[in-house]
Amino acid sequence: MIDLKNLTIEKAHESLKRGDYSVSDLVDAYLEVIKKGNPDINAYIEIFDDLKEQIKIAEKMRKEGKATLMTGIPTAIKDNMLVDSHIASAGSNILKNYKATYDAFVIKQLKSAGAILLGRTNMDEFAMGSSTETSAYGNTKNPLDVNRVPGGSSGGSVAAVAMNGALVSLGSDTGGSIRQPASFTGLVGLKPTYGAVSRSGIIAMASSLDQVGSIGKTVRDAEILFEAINGYDELDSTSVPKEKRIKPSPMRKRIGIPKEFLKSKGIDKSVLENFEESCQKLEKIGYELVDISLPLIKYSLAVYYIIMPAEVSSNLARYDGMRYGLSVEASKLYDVYAKTRGAGFGREVRRRILLGTYILSHGYYDAYYNTAVKSRSAITAELNSVFSSVDAIITPTSPSLPFKFNEKIKDPLAMYMSDLFTVPVNIAGIPAMSIPSGKTKDGLPFGLHIMAPAFREDILFAIGKDFEKLV
Ligand code: GLN
Repeated sequence: MIDLKNLTIEKAHESLKRGDYSVSDLVDAYLEVIKKGNPDINAYIEIFDDLKEQIKIAEKMRKEGKATLMTGIPTAIKDNMLVDSHIASAGSNILKNYKATYDAFVIKQLKSAGAILLGRTNMDEFAMGSSTETSAYGNTKNPLDVNRVPGGSSGGSVAAVAMNGALVSLGSDTGGSIRQPASFTGLVGLKPTYGAVSRSGIIAMASSLDQVGSIGKTVRDAEILFEAINGYDELDSTSVPKEKRIKPSPMRKRIGIPKEFLKSKGIDKSVLENFEESCQKLEKIGYELVDISLPLIKYSLAVYYIIMPAEVSSNLARYDGMRYGLSVEASKLYDVYAKTRGAGFGREVRRRILLGTYILSHGYYDAYYNTAVKSRSAITAELNSVFSSVDAIITPTSPSLPFKFNEKIKDPLAMYMSDLFTVPVNIAGIPAMSIPSGKTKDGLPFGLHIMAPAFREDILFAIGKDFEKLV
């Protein structure tokens, strides 16, 4: 029996190297857990049917001495990433039968590293949501408490790892969709710097905010998976060449706390208490915590919920029944569009398309969209100026603990509050990571959210590794 619960990438790598077990044994161990657990948890929408071929490639790489840390590592993939010849539906009915015709950049990277792509995971439709309840493929349950949501939108990707149905997974994060679900399931979730990981082959939600990142049980696992997918790609015009990226420099071990921001309405008392404890732990191990002032950060959520739907409405215009996926027949062209989109998109997606179309309409785009774009620059400048005096900024990851099904789904504004601490990062394009910071008496997890300057993921890993020893 392989101890999947305590398995890390490095441990698996060593065991495979020593021959304690084969890649095939390792994959089988995960498949067994999936077979038992997935019917209830619904982390995966599909397990890929080409695992045997993938295992062969990984074993061959091992034999030829070409193994990387990721070779043979069972990895779960969010359903909005194109894997050649497999369906990628973005959790939507409109793409239910859409088969990808090429590999996303991140998938190419993983394949060349010899990783095993186990299957595609459930998600909020087109990554819009914080609970995975907007998926067209049913709810995903939180493996830590099946009456609660796993967070979202990468709910399937975190549930897969949390139930030991994958060693690591890929998620995407537009406003918090890796970090909040990681926090809800007691995992580590990294959203890299905008431009660090190519978006080529990722089904777009809001292109100026989307970024693919890694999920794992430990900081090191998230780091290894990030290293495998990180890189320049000419197919993404916003991908940043390696030489233009900021180089690591020594840390000052000084972390900023945005005191005013933490007084925002709607944050659970227990979350603030846990955050206070995390601060004390960091101080104990030699970090200096300083108060910082970020007067504009409170506008992030409002700015996000203007820019994001604007981009959503234009990105999702391509699903017109002509080019991808579902097409509902009608006698007039316009009716094909309308019927396809009406049948294919769920409520939340339709809400955001309407909102975005309104925001971008003549007579309103100056008042809404252009104002939000200007505010975005101001928020980004404010965050960047703070980084001249601190290495990182910390907050809780989510203002609430994992909530129950149906608790927020009928109240979009309450659901949007989930993104309070995570959206500023996407607005500014900086990297951030959620790491487990303890549990309630009932076993519900808290997350600590660390933000760093652009391309300084190394700071997140360093602080994360120091912190995880204490929890
Ligand atoms: N919860 C946020 C939203 O609904 C974030 C989604 C995401 O990061 N993809 O927009």
